[in-house]
Amino acid sequence: MSTRVNPNLIKEIKKFGASDWNACFHCGNCTAVCNLTEEGVLFPRKEIRALQMGLEDKLISGVEPWVCYYCGDCTETCPRDANPGELMMSVRRWLTTKYDWTGLAGLFYKSLPALIIGFILVAIGVFAIGFVKDFNHEAVMHFGHKLEFWLIISVFTLILVPNILRMFYFTVIKPKVNASFRSYIDAVGTLFLHMFTQIKTLKCDKQTVRWLEHLLVVLGYLGLLVITVFLDWFGTENKIIIYLGYITGGLVFIFTALLLFSRLNKEREVNKYSQPTDWFFIIWLFLMGLTAFLVRLFIDTGLLANHFWLYMVHLMILAQWGILIVPFGKWTHFLYRSFALSFANLKKAALNVKVAAAA
Ligand code: SF4
Ligand code: SF4
Repeated sequence: MSTRVNPNLIKEIKKFGASDWNACFHCGNCTAVCNLTEEGVLFPRKEIRALQMGLEDKLISGVEPWVCYYCGDCTETCPRDANPGELMMSVRRWLTTKYDWTGLAGLFYKSLPALIIGFILVAIGVFAIGFVKDFNHEAVMHFGHKLEFWLIISVFTLILVPNILRMFYFTVIKPKVNASFRSYIDAVGTLFLHMFTQIKTLKCDKQTVRWLEHLLVVLGYLGLLVITVFLDWFGTENKIIIYLGYITGGLVFIFTALLLFSRLNKEREVNKYSQPTDWFFIIWLFLMGLTAFLVRLFIDTGLLANHFWLYMVHLMILAQWGILIVPFGKWTHFLYRSFALSFANLKKAALNVKVAAAA
């Protein structure tokens, strides 16, 4: 594997977060206190070392930054205040821009004006579609329903799947990870387990409440997605689907509100350093859940006919979420982390085979 040195690596990654990497004197305390490290998957000292030495390829080929759930234990106990937890977060942000083939993730991470322009353009686009359709309620809502469906299909096939394949190339193919077919089958199980449960968070100390909040947000979000896109929540008369929509929409906005307060209060280590993309992610998720909930409530109470602006606001937030935040923002962390955990299992399996062969 290439060992190309990038002398500007530290400077580059500093654009993705706050940390004083050079303060680290490699005592190894952070790796020792981290409950998520294990044989073959050691961090965060290793990443700091790679960063300080400018070993870009080594950093890109690692899955370890995604195994970190940012509990903050390492940061609290670092004798040099080097903030290794935030370092791992910054590396994760940087990695998303390396996986992204379009280059837009990097642009939006580094340039707030570019991100704001993106949000404004999408808002104008949504308004223009409403205008073209004479703000006819039925026509605009029909368009909104189709938009959700086609956004999911196109974002996944054109952006997220190619990016996952790039990640697979960087972390498994290029470093020549030689895992058995059986390990790949197991990796699929790991992928879905972690995607839906994020169960590894519980290995960290005092993270049960945070884990539960995230779990409820993820379940609410996925449930709302299925109910609105595939079960046509705004158009259905089916009482069960309607109530399920209220429950999932409520879960999303109530629990994202809690996460939002926690980020505002900076109570947890994970919330102490926020980038604009972190704020957009959490605020837009909150607004999506809230406006979806209110639109259905307005439909059920007969208020939507005179307050169609609410649906237009919901559609605008939805379009911004689907076009900007899901493919290029913080949402991708959810996906990359799940895949990284299954790639980490492939690496561990390949390492075990090597050790067994050498014994
Ligand atoms: S980040 Fe802190 S705890 Fe970790 S190796 Fe460096 S000095 Fe030690
Ligand atoms: S923040 Fe927590 S999970 Fe991440 S490296 Fe530090 S101790 Fe480990």
